[in-house]
Amino acid sequence: MTSLPKSADYVLIGAGIHSLSLGWRLSELLSARGQDNKKIIVIDKSDVGSGASGIACGVVRNNYFQPAMRELMAHSVGVWESDPKALNYHSVGYMQISPECMHEDVAQIHKEQSSIGYESVFIEGKSDSERYMRAIVEDWQMQDTTSVLHEKRGGFAYNKASLEGLAAKARAGGVEVVTHCNVTGFRRDNGSDAVKAVITEAGEIECEQVVISVGPWVRDFWRMLELPSKISVPRRDQRNGEKGMAEVPMWCYWQLEEGVLQVEPEYLSDNAGGVPPVFHVDSQQELFSSKSGERIETGGLWGVYYKPDHNFGGVQGGAAPYKIDLAADDVAVDPYGPASPQFTAREEFPEMWCAALASCQKRFEGKRVLYKDEPSGGVGCFTPDSFPVFDRFCDNVYIVADSNHGYKMIGVGHLVAEELLGTESALLQPFRFSRFASGDLHPTSNSPFPWS
Ligand SMILES: Cc1cc2nc3c(=O)[nH]c(=O)nc-3n(C[C@H](O)[C@H](O)[C@H](O)COP(=O)(O)OP(=O)(O)OC[C@H]3O[C@@H](n4cnc5c(N)ncnc54)[C@H](O)[C@@H]3O)c2cc1C
Repeated sequence: MTSLPKSADYVLIGAGIHSLSLGWRLSELLSARGQDNKKIIVIDKSDVGSGASGIACGVVRNNYFQPAMRELMAHSVGVWESDPKALNYHSVGYMQISPECMHEDVAQIHKEQSSIGYESVFIEGKSDSERYMRAIVEDWQMQDTTSVLHEKRGGFAYNKASLEGLAAKARAGGVEVVTHCNVTGFRRDNGSDAVKAVITEAGEIECEQVVISVGPWVRDFWRMLELPSKISVPRRDQRNGEKGMAEVPMWCYWQLEEGVLQVEPEYLSDNAGGVPPVFHVDSQQELFSSKSGERIETGGLWGVYYKPDHNFGGVQGGAAPYKIDLAADDVAVDPYGPASPQFTAREEFPEMWCAALASCQKRFEGKRVLYKDEPSGGVGCFTPDSFPVFDRFCDNVYIVADSNHGYKMIGVGHLVAEELLGTESALLQPFRFSRFASGDLHPTSNSPFPWS
């Protein structure tokens, strides 16, 4: 463990995308105010990028049905674009390829992207969509696509390398990164809600401000702060005219299924031999196992995403996640610990994902045997409406709970830095905790993914 200071002005817990981005920007803002003497430390129980940020697929996109998410993502894409080399960011674009049941939602996304100046092209109709896709990859063969949204910005970044780039930026601003230091609680003085010190296994650190960005461990920190494990939210069907509130657990977990097809990444080149945009395909087309020939149970609408990737060493991607029972109040489970289901994607995932790729592009037919049989994917911790909470608690604690949307949200740390120094961010307002009580929830789409 790197040595632990006795005190700091800002203690940022978790060395993932959010704390590192926040440390970087906060140090810049403090320096511009002549306050270089303020001490910022990032603490992690393991190392930089040892949480969700370090295993993320790394897709950066704007494609969201929720206006507030889209505006926030447009800001984050700008941060990725500010230094693509240091952040290992590849601006190849992103495509949402959809069947008819999603047409209207995606048309709406395109319209609203145009209104905020986020460049995208929207293709409608089966034959125009097919022609557009074949102009990019000539073996495109998905049959039920009736619209294509092509975002010209966005793409992907290499997870660990981008975090090292971010950590270097934070350190260059004087931020101290303390690794292998487990936070176990908080000390609050009698009669005050504010945290006076962060308790770790290596001692206490007195502090003025705490920021918690701990990805899937947020449930544990929520408990340490004695925040409510259940909250009231408007009933889901309220939008159809029903009234009333329902009590639900604050946090729930989903398993994200991802995998790699072991081909040269260049195997997935576009017609010009370059890197194509990230493909995200939703479909209702039937899928068949390449092993048994039997129909694969997909539940109707399914979705996959994939891209060529030198970091993972092949064509990498995933499918829609599924809920797992990791949130029971009385069970202390570390989401990435030995008893976790992190690396136990369902057996049927490789069959489904490989069959889906083959139904999209002919070049993937018969390639199931090249599926890399090793642990992949991970768990994500979601809020009751599956969207982030960025808010202040207990007087001096700021929680960045991104509801597993967050690798792409590199700009959130920058906005939180401004809020800590007194400038409220309009982009963060729609993500306050109070929305659950007031009923100002984000709209839901017809996508099979909880995060679209
Ligand atoms: C398989 C997978 C693929 C994903 N793909 C994408 C994607 O393509 N695009 C996208 O935008 N998002 C993606 N996500 C979501 C994204 O990775 C997360 O939303 C984001 O990385 C969370 O960042 P974070 O900084 O909050 O937390 P993390 O990156 O999880 O970091 C939290 C850190 O907190 C530390 N910590 C935990 N407990 C303690 C403690 N007690 N004391 C000290 N330190 C502690 C951990 O060691 C960890 O390093 C993916 C997630 C998964 C699981």
